[in-house]
Amino acid sequence: MESEALMSTFLRRGVLWPTAEIYGGIQGLYDYGEAGSSIKRNLEAAWERWFVGLSPGYYRIEPAEILPEAVVRASGHLANFADPLVKCNACGEEYRADTLLEARGVQDAEALRGEELQKRLVELKIRCPRCGKAEFTPPKAFNLMFGFDWGAQSEERAYLRPETAQSSYLAFPRMWNAMRKKLPLGVAVVGKAYRNEIAPRQVLFRMRAFTQAELQIFFDPEGLPDSWRVPPDFSVPALTARDREKGAKEATLQKLSDLVAQGQMPEFYAYHLMQTYRCYRDVLGYPEARLRLFEKNEKERAFYNRIQYDFEAHLDSLGGFKELGAVHYRGDYDLTKHSEGSKTDLGVTLENGRHILPHVLELTFGVDRNLWALADLLMKKDGDRTVWSLPPYLAPKLAGILPLIPKEHGEDALRLHRRLVAEGFHVVLDDSGSIGRRYARLDEIGTPFAITVDRDSLTNQTYTLRERDSKAQRRVTVEELAVALRKASLFPTPHSEVRN
Ligand SMILES: [Zn+2]
Repeated sequence: MESEALMSTFLRRGVLWPTAEIYGGIQGLYDYGEAGSSIKRNLEAAWERWFVGLSPGYYRIEPAEILPEAVVRASGHLANFADPLVKCNACGEEYRADTLLEARGVQDAEALRGEELQKRLVELKIRCPRCGKAEFTPPKAFNLMFGFDWGAQSEERAYLRPETAQSSYLAFPRMWNAMRKKLPLGVAVVGKAYRNEIAPRQVLFRMRAFTQAELQIFFDPEGLPDSWRVPPDFSVPALTARDREKGAKEATLQKLSDLVAQGQMPEFYAYHLMQTYRCYRDVLGYPEARLRLFEKNEKERAFYNRIQYDFEAHLDSLGGFKELGAVHYRGDYDLTKHSEGSKTDLGVTLENGRHILPHVLELTFGVDRNLWALADLLMKKDGDRTVWSLPPYLAPKLAGILPLIPKEHGEDALRLHRRLVAEGFHVVLDDSGSIGRRYARLDEIGTPFAITVDRDSLTNQTYTLRERDSKAQRRVTVEELAVALRKASLFPTPHSEVRN
């Protein structure tokens, strides 16, 4: 769906809006309304059920969002977490140098550094989008962290966390001891991260405060679980670094087992690509034709990542493939750095007596980005209605209860509403406007079912159940209603049979 149509539906239905909108908004921040925050919570729950559900040894924690300076110094963020900032000499506007180049079609702009960036800006005669002059200051590294002094005497420097991952590394020794000293150990965090973006843009894709869902899996590379294997035929649309080097521009369907056999990735990594891919396809319901796995090459990925595949979806609203999450094999970089920084040995002694520093596999997921992608990929025009075909367990409400004539059927509708709420279903009662308009409102925010209460409901306790996507209607009893709602609210799990 196009960006304007999507945003206008979001604003009209109160899904989300710019923060401090009545003051003109503020770049890079959005507030979620009732429908938006419900979808977001459901998305987080779906992510957690899937990824924390991968193994009994995985847990979710809730660490603080503020970190002392020693942490971001050890992790490398203080020195390296920066974007190249240039300033227009004529009008003073500031830009990310790589973004200016990207807008002119330079593919690898993100991988370019200081002098190279400047050279390309001059070569391509890049002009200031605001005033048209072609004169910029040399790029300087602009750190993206929000740092501040705190304490009554401002004696300490602290930072809003730029990613949730660091908190999981800090939690490792406590979690190791509290959770029966077994590997693999998974530590998940779902929460806010903060970045002082130079130029926030693309709505939910580059925000200054955003929600990440990340799972850090600590494991012993010499003692991998037997279950970390891929079936021989499981394939994914992938654009590998090797294929890109040979000039490939588009993803092709590749068997993960082939990529393992060719030595392009270890099998444990392929297994996690498969489970992540299944989540996008089976849990979130993304059309496979819109998905691809994109391998970052050595120049593009952070130096501590040994392998990195981004999960991308082709979004019409943003004009191309956009990253929604990734799988990073980080080796022992993180525990090494925090062992040095904290002067604490973060190594562990295994049951067989070996003392090792666990490796980390990081599964990341941008919650806001995925909410936008769900709208882009699953919201459609159908005649004069707009239908958001969300999987039922992601919808803000499972069903709307609509008294046909509110004056006559209102009480009965209220009774049904109470009963379904008591059974644990998220349902809403809507008695304003024509039945057609009420259907339309429900369709736009992805409500999978509408239940109409009419004259017959009073006499024989049956209701009309309408399905959102097909508009098919059938007459059901309250028991049948509960069964249909229960069935629709079940999440898929990672342990169901793997289909290709
Ligand atoms: Zn300018």
